[in-house]
Amino acid sequence: MPIQSIKTALLTGMFAIGCGCATFLDASRASAQAEGRAERSEPSVRVRVIGPDGRLTEPMMVPKVVLSDAQWRQRLTPDQFRITRRKGTEPAFCGGLLANKEPGLYACLCCDLPLFGSTTKFDSGTGWPSFNAPVAVENIREKLDRSMGMIRMEILCMRCDAHLGHVFRDGPPPTGLRYCLNSDAMRFVARNQILTIAEDPTAATRTGRGEATLVSARKETAEAVFAGGCFWCVEAVFRQLDGVVEAISGYSGGTARTANYKAVMTKRTGHAEAVKIVYDPEKISYEQLLRVHFATHDPTTLNRQGPDIGPQYRSSIFFADQQEKKIAEAFIADLNEAKVFPRPIVTKLEPLKAFYPAEDYHQDFVVCNPQHPYVLNVALPKVDQVRRQFSDLVKPDGQ
Ligand SMILES: [Zn+2]
Repeated sequence: MPIQSIKTALLTGMFAIGCGCATFLDASRASAQAEGRAERSEPSVRVRVIGPDGRLTEPMMVPKVVLSDAQWRQRLTPDQFRITRRKGTEPAFCGGLLANKEPGLYACLCCDLPLFGSTTKFDSGTGWPSFNAPVAVENIREKLDRSMGMIRMEILCMRCDAHLGHVFRDGPPPTGLRYCLNSDAMRFVARNQILTIAEDPTAATRTGRGEATLVSARKETAEAVFAGGCFWCVEAVFRQLDGVVEAISGYSGGTARTANYKAVMTKRTGHAEAVKIVYDPEKISYEQLLRVHFATHDPTTLNRQGPDIGPQYRSSIFFADQQEKKIAEAFIADLNEAKVFPRPIVTKLEPLKAFYPAEDYHQDFVVCNPQHPYVLNVALPKVDQVRRQFSDLVKPDGQ
């Protein structure tokens, strides 16, 4: 079973090349993007669903369920999101379905596709729910997984691509297979409740939930608020990323009364120079924003970025909800564990109470003042670094 995906991507990249954050962040991002593109090119899949009579249907084409990260986070707990959408693994012997022996069906937690039946469940002693066969082979997608220095076969939900676990060839007869599952990737449906996940396949094909969510996902924007020193730089770094609709320089951490440059310079307001990033989660994810952020400022210097000293220049993530907080915490823990930086990360995680846009003359400062010495010496090198290091994340026109 894999460990949490951010960690997997980071550690694998780190060990493979044995150098600093720049290159390995790049590599993990590129592979994730390539995979995302490949999967989105298949809007329909051939699966069996539970029909109106409570039985499995014949294999049929249904729309894939494609949601943005933001939409999945609304539907799932942080642990469920980490496991199903980020290829995480729950601790052994902790899953809620491990000991379940009731008759019924185990469906995909994310899209209710039937996956396993209780008659194929067995006690493998591994600490994870184990089955020797899926309820329908069509409903499970297998994918070679080379993470963690091993070669394993990952299993995913065919309809929504939820990560489920892995399949191994050491199971009991008659199949000899062991499907090793995360409890948090499945929903148990007792036999007498089976109609609660019944679908009308004809209607699903016509007005399918997958098609509907594809449309709605494209309309959404999300927001992230990061601080990492002078907001001129942070804004310039993020505004060039494809999927970033807007990057606004401002202040966060203090009150409205002191949200102005003169007050913030006194170092007594609690504010940090921060940037609000409005982005399309279909094009760029919160994790990708974090990767860019940690690759473009020094998160190990307390209340300081290079020549800029004071708490207003602190490294900080202003999280809007518990999901963002957990993702950022895990991301930082992985960077520390992998010793990406020579010193511990001191980035603060602060609840986002309010964001106050800065004065007009601070907005678009780098674009408007390309000859300013600070822009030439500090900001533009960071902009160039992002264009090199995250070239496929940058907008085609670079603006
Ligand atoms: Zn699913």
